[in-house]
Amino acid sequence: MAYRRLLQQAIDEIWDNTVWKEKRVKHWYSVGKGKYKYYETTRLIPYFPKSSEFKRELRNKLLQNWSFAKHYVDSAIKTAYSILESWRQNYLKGRRKRKKPVVKRKFVRVKTTLMKVEGSKIRITIKPREEYLELDFSGEWFYERVKGWKVGELVIRDKDVYLAFSEEVEFSGKIKIGIDSNLLSLDVYHPEKGWVKVDLSELHRISETYDRVIDRLKSIQRKAPKRIGMLLKKYWVRRRNRIEDFLNKLSVQLSREFPDTIFVFEDLNKFKMLENGSKRFNRKLSRATWGKIVRKLSYRVPIEFVNPAGTSSTCPKCGNKLESRNGLVVCKCGFKSDRQFLGAFNVFVRGLGVALSGGEARDLLPNEPGGELRLMSPKSVVSVDLNGRTLTPTPP
Ligand SMILES: [Zn+2]
Repeated sequence: MAYRRLLQQAIDEIWDNTVWKEKRVKHWYSVGKGKYKYYETTRLIPYFPKSSEFKRELRNKLLQNWSFAKHYVDSAIKTAYSILESWRQNYLKGRRKRKKPVVKRKFVRVKTTLMKVEGSKIRITIKPREEYLELDFSGEWFYERVKGWKVGELVIRDKDVYLAFSEEVEFSGKIKIGIDSNLLSLDVYHPEKGWVKVDLSELHRISETYDRVIDRLKSIQRKAPKRIGMLLKKYWVRRRNRIEDFLNKLSVQLSREFPDTIFVFEDLNKFKMLENGSKRFNRKLSRATWGKIVRKLSYRVPIEFVNPAGTSSTCPKCGNKLESRNGLVVCKCGFKSDRQFLGAFNVFVRGLGVALSGGEARDLLPNEPGGELRLMSPKSVVSVDLNGRTLTPTPP
């Protein structure tokens, strides 16, 4: 109860200090044949206070009436921001009104620093050196399954408790694979299996199908705003669920396809600084989708990130800048390859901790004798099986 009030107070404070700026917004919708129309409205865009001074003051304010451990205040502030941030996303997409979010559910997120774990007993600090809460999960159905695992975050809700466990897995770390995203495929470079292309055209098809319906509804939304608004919501939810389902299956099937493997990805956070996102991403999956795939995989397989700079334009043989020609990349030194192969291959090379140049790369290609990087086509093409457990080979 006290925590819910604290969290609401944090939201109130942030909300009261939010700056609203007016902005003309164009709502685009498709009218077929690649043509788009729009109508304009004025919207108020919220900007939450984020300065460290504000956060410090907020913390002090919240601490005034708080007799429990200070950690809960920090957790409440963090949670308040994430609640508001997700409200903002929904608001900008027109799915929420300009109304302050209210915390209804009772829940507390407990950081590991406030917990002491001994065997199956967990002691949670409520007030330091005064009040504790003890849990014992030795009698629970899952006890045998999580024996010896580490206890992670804990969320206490009204009537139940969520416990996150993690197991420290011994990992041989022998094989690394490089993965690059493209609009219609994930391209994998595996040191033994070579270039494996995971077909994503089904994912593309799902989102396009729904986008078409949503565009059509938007174009007539002004005729019956309420009814069409509800329809829109329905299709948004359906679209999200279908995509979510596809991505879940993709990550499960990928982890089965490449067991005992470290998955190497480009570090998405670095794209912003290096290149003007959109230009790069229009040949790739959207940042959001890519981020989801990486996150889902991270629950199943070990992941490493590498710097994305130049992975799509550097010659792995000599380090020079490559030229693009009809989906191929060509180098002065004679190197020639498919663009999608190159992306995955360069991520793989970077994952090995090697600079993208010179002779080192040559020794790292057991399936390319003598380091002859030839123009190649994928060794295999696979796609997600929506009814199965593993990726299915696709005939070329
Ligand atoms: Zn070259």
